[in-house]
Amino acid sequence: MHELGIVEQLVRIAVDELEKAGAEGPVSSVNLRVGVMSGASPEALRTAWEVVVPNTRLKGAELLIDEPPATCRCLECGATSEVDGYTFACPSCDSGQIAIEGGSELQLASLEVEDS
Ligand SMILES: [Zn+2]
Repeated sequence: MHELGIVEQLVRIAVDELEKAGAEGPVSSVNLRVGVMSGASPEALRTAWEVVVPNTRLKGAELLIDEPPATCRCLECGATSEVDGYTFACPSCDSGQIAIEGGSELQLASLEVEDS
């Protein structure tokens, strides 16, 4: 399960950010962006979170996960649209010439810190 490694890395980034910001209060929530094309499963990330986080600075923080949809841009007509399942064609002109642009995010979006 590579989600364990992903969570460990995200926690390291979060702890770095907290140190840089000089935040000392407990972290109430952590917001992740996990695109549908990222290859990571939000459910597995939550499981990994439960394993990793109790031993870290983020102990007790609620995990919030945004799942931005995949988007694509049509190379024929320029329309941008959400990718619906595995139908990779432009909804405007039906062209198969599309470039996937969004949905592969796997990043820390924000942190909420309580006042100490
Ligand atoms: Zn098109």
